[in-house]
Amino acid sequence: MYDIIMIGAGPTGCTAARELTCNGYKVLLVEKFKMPRNKSCSGVLIKKSMDLVKRYFDEDTPEFTMCMPKDNRGMVFTNDKGQEYRFEQEGLNIWRSSFDYWLATKATEAGAELRDETIALSCLEQENCVIVNLKGTSLYSEKAKLVIVCDGVVGSVKRKLIHAPQNYITTYQTFNKGSIELDHHYFYAYLQPYLSEYDAWFNVKDDYLIFGVSVKDTSKLEHYYAEFIVYMEKHHNAKIEKQEKAEKWLMPYIMPKCPVQYGKGKVLFAGETAGFLNPMGEGISAAMESGYAAAKAIEKIDLNNDLDLETVYSAYQNNTSALRVYMERQWNFVASMASTFDYMRL
Ligand SMILES: Cc1cc2nc3c(=O)[nH]c(=O)nc-3n(C[C@H](O)[C@H](O)[C@H](O)COP(=O)(O)OP(=O)(O)OC[C@H]3O[C@@H](n4cnc5c(N)ncnc54)[C@H](O)[C@@H]3O)c2cc1C
Repeated sequence: MYDIIMIGAGPTGCTAARELTCNGYKVLLVEKFKMPRNKSCSGVLIKKSMDLVKRYFDEDTPEFTMCMPKDNRGMVFTNDKGQEYRFEQEGLNIWRSSFDYWLATKATEAGAELRDETIALSCLEQENCVIVNLKGTSLYSEKAKLVIVCDGVVGSVKRKLIHAPQNYITTYQTFNKGSIELDHHYFYAYLQPYLSEYDAWFNVKDDYLIFGVSVKDTSKLEHYYAEFIVYMEKHHNAKIEKQEKAEKWLMPYIMPKCPVQYGKGKVLFAGETAGFLNPMGEGISAAMESGYAAAKAIEKIDLNNDLDLETVYSAYQNNTSALRVYMERQWNFVASMASTFDYMRL
């Protein structure tokens, strides 16, 4: 029997796994894909994420996880009226495959067991444990006293436990060779409603120019992407020589007041699964912070006696109250910049 099973080896699961392992808990970290795995992401570590890495993993983000240009110098927003706002801030440009793999390695070095290529199918709560049904090369199950589900946006394990509305944004980004007249050190977000239903973005990773759009209605994806490329050609002299890769992904559609689902019984939710995400899809900081908060809440109780779940949930909520205030403030801020986000205005 494990003390805790973490489902999903993203920033949430790895942070929770490392924290609990360092404090003597027997931890299993289950990941669907073979590590290192790809996760569609712009890979911007904002200053807050850099600081959390240092705090939770006792090290600065290592060089080998970074791509060129290594330093992200901030974000440039263009609002729905075409006005540009520049926010200068220290940050890093990383590849998620190597960054998340490094986080997982830090968890295993501390003593967590990582089982990749293993899908968690469901969790079944029993009187003394949770049975986690798994699929690796065969179907089998493991037991834990508590489980943290941090399987990301779709949250299929969570959806088997509670009724959660499926409300997503579809993201589409392409990796291109070419040139553009924009400073490669910034992340650019475009909030004009004719360029996307949510936001459109541009950033650079190694020698790729990355253009992305996000929509609610997937049938409009190609239309918005084409409009965005025309816009970037006209305003920033973008010249695409060759498109080498394209990625479609999902993002939670965050609702007003940023509701969060903390879990059900002995199964806690954290990261994107729980609903933690900042505007423009900045989610790594919220992932790490909520994973750590869940772990710290678990550390408050004695796992060898009757589980005091009330204490766990109330500690988890307390530990994430500042994060929720931050999230709401950030969403309210983008609501003031573009009509697309008006629905989030407090
Ligand atoms: C296009 C795009 C760009 C983004 N850019 C940025 C950015 O620049 N900066 C930033 O901070 N954030 C960014 N984000 C958001 C960020 O990627 C997420 O918020 C963050 O990854 C959430 O972390 P997580 O650990 O909760 O989930 P994930 O990182 O999604 O990790 C979940 C893990 O669970 C695994 N899993 C899923 N189902 C199962 C299962 N049943 N069993 C076992 N394992 C399972 C998955 O394979 C995955 O490894 C971006 C998101 C998108 C879509």
